[in-house]
Amino acid sequence: MFSSLSEKLQDVFKRLRGKGKLTEKDIKDAMKEVKLALLEADVNYKVVKDFINTVTQKAVGEEVLESLTPAQQVIKIVYDEMVRLLGGSDTKLTFSPSGFSIYMMVGLQGSGKTTTAGKLAGLLKKQGKNPLLVACDIYRPAAIKQLEVVAQKVGVKCFADYNSKDAVKIAKEGIEFAKASRCDVAIVDTAGRLHINQELMDELVSIKNAIKPTEILLVLDAMTGQDAVNVATAFNEQLGIDGIIMTKLDGDTRGGAALSVKAITGKPIKFAGVGEKMEDLEAFHPDRMASRILG
Ligand code: GDP
Repeated sequence: MFSSLSEKLQDVFKRLRGKGKLTEKDIKDAMKEVKLALLEADVNYKVVKDFINTVTQKAVGEEVLESLTPAQQVIKIVYDEMVRLLGGSDTKLTFSPSGFSIYMMVGLQGSGKTTTAGKLAGLLKKQGKNPLLVACDIYRPAAIKQLEVVAQKVGVKCFADYNSKDAVKIAKEGIEFAKASRCDVAIVDTAGRLHINQELMDELVSIKNAIKPTEILLVLDAMTGQDAVNVATAFNEQLGIDGIIMTKLDGDTRGGAALSVKAITGKPIKFAGVGEKMEDLEAFHPDRMASRILG
């Protein structure tokens, strides 16, 4: 994960450490390299600019330059700013005070939405919840089947209706079924498309209005870089989202999506998908992620 970015940043820091005392120019040169590394990792340009400005401003102060371990201090500043970029502190899933929570999963086709719905159900089950999966991706029968398969894998029930073409009705019936079955969580899998279009957004807005989810979770493929950030912006503007689940962080992603999405949309990454198996979903920790990147 982020291996190329990590390597480049570690190189920059190694050189800084080797210098002993630092001048303002040393820091500015190092920041130029950090900037390039972030841009190559596909981090949004404006995010990179703000990041570099903040770090430089803090790093060229007397306190740092005159200190006994200036390089260490600069690295600490970069670390702190990177944690902030990744979302600051951990953001947990919100449960409804009513005792019955509804999570609506949205995202483009192929982002990992159905898999992640199953993983989330498995995770919540392990935490003592009793989740139900609701299959509202009605345009592809294979998607309904896939949700049933993941439900079985994690040992939860799945509500589906192969004959209906009304996603809003299925969502509402699924919620009723969940309540009648004494479930305390319903995870609603919605339809994806290859690209964002109005029809998709209209359907998602109708489902949202009908079931009033506790949270809308956008599933984003980290491998798609800045495209993922554009997708997040569109979903947030047109539907309103509460959190992001970043998938495929186990792959050789450059990191741009994870490092830009909070700054651009204001919405936190809540979970990370780190593999294809049902147990490969983790709570997202900005501080641990920053430590991994900076080595
Ligand atoms: P959907 O079209 O958004 O419902 O996407 P799927 O759930 O069908 O997932 C698309 C592909 O991505 C499948 O092959 C999944 O196994 C894979 N996938 C999903 N999440 C992850 C992840 O975190 N890591 C990896 N490596 N693959 C994932």
